Amino acid sequence: MHVGIDDTDSRTGMCTTYLCKLIIDALATRGTVRGLPRLIRLNPNIPYKTRGNGALSFSFEGPRDAAISIISSFLDAYYEHDENTNPGVVVVSDENVSDLGGHYLRALHNVVTIEEANEVADSVDAYVMTRGNGRGLIGALAAVGASVPSPTYELIAYRRPSAMGSQRYVDAESVRDVEMRYSPTIFDSYDWKNKYVAIAPNSPCPVLYGIRGTDPHVLYEAARAIRSEPVEKLQLFLTNQATDAHIVDKRICEAGPYESVHVPCAVSERPHFEHKGHLFFKVEDGSGSLICAAYEPTKEFRNVMARLVPGDRIEVWGGVKDTDYGRTINLEKVRVVELANIVKNEVPACCGTRMRSVGANKGYRCKKCGRRITHEDVSTRSIPRDIDTGYYEVPVIARRHLARPLVLGITL
Ligand code: ATP
Repeated sequence: MHVGIDDTDSRTGMCTTYLCKLIIDALATRGTVRGLPRLIRLNPNIPYKTRGNGALSFSFEGPRDAAISIISSFLDAYYEHDENTNPGVVVVSDENVSDLGGHYLRALHNVVTIEEANEVADSVDAYVMTRGNGRGLIGALAAVGASVPSPTYELIAYRRPSAMGSQRYVDAESVRDVEMRYSPTIFDSYDWKNKYVAIAPNSPCPVLYGIRGTDPHVLYEAARAIRSEPVEKLQLFLTNQATDAHIVDKRICEAGPYESVHVPCAVSERPHFEHKGHLFFKVEDGSGSLICAAYEPTKEFRNVMARLVPGDRIEVWGGVKDTDYGRTINLEKVRVVELANIVKNEVPACCGTRMRSVGANKGYRCKKCGRRITHEDVSTRSIPRDIDTGYYEVPVIARRHLARPLVLGITL
């Protein structure tokens, strides 16, 4: 049987990965947990998420009724009683799991309603436990149905119960050493420019740290190198993080709100900074136009994007949202494909002084002798650009779980 769990935590406590860990440890005494539990990230643009829109699943061989009773007692003992916490747990038999593949893709790329999730649960004959409004059912089913062809892994260390609520101790120096020694096998642990430790959460949840990487053995080695307060439990999860699984190739006219897209386009309006340091510019692709946003949290990425000019050919990756300004893509990555040639007129000289412009594209006239030079005869020079072609991404501090860091290569 396969078990899916979602939406048991809130901003003030718990973590669904921790509940999953407690459940699989308890179930291990009654049967076999097959393979690794899975941490599946879903649509990062949906409004209901607490943090990273993650849901959990695992596969278990053992007595079904006993498993259901253990799971439900752990759920009720640990889920957060919060108005925005709406747990969902499903138990699906092995032969019905493949029928959930379509639901996973919808939950990854679109917005799914609770009614739709209930229909899907019925169609696979799932045993369902929900609390609150039961929205967690959407993610629980999706986590069971997820197919992850090229997974990455996250090794999560949990705090001792007595430490929960107090300030975490994870030594930043040891995190920097791990990043230096194991990157890119281990990724997104430390943001060098912004001096940010990315493995430790800031919320009062049971997680001490989570190290992400492509090789489980290296993750365990790295965990041994992290200096921290005592670790109560360690659990390795298989994940779809850092795979760009949320991204779909689209034209601008097809890119709708809540989707994450990859669009080849051209810059059509010069980038400009607005209040609070957010950067915006417009792009078009012949089918429509879109506002690109690099918000303040994307830090130095904004300064690179500010160097684009109209005519630059680029590709953008990010989440689409309708804002007061219009349809906007929240940039995750950009490829600068071809830079526009910026030319400037060489102002001609006459009678020992610079000639005066007669008007835009109308040439120049000498103020002293009246000689004219037409626009066509004015010589021009190319202005060197301060940005190169290539790939650019938001820094680690602003990275979404699903976004594939450039150090891992681009998947198209
Ligand atoms: P954390 O990262 O701490 O686990 P979270 O960000 O995963 O928290 P949840 O508490 O799981 O947030 O809340 C997300 C809620 O949104 C869940 O109820 C989940 O079922 C639901 N959900 C997930 N994907 C979609 C989707 N595509 N459409 C509608 N609802 C969704």
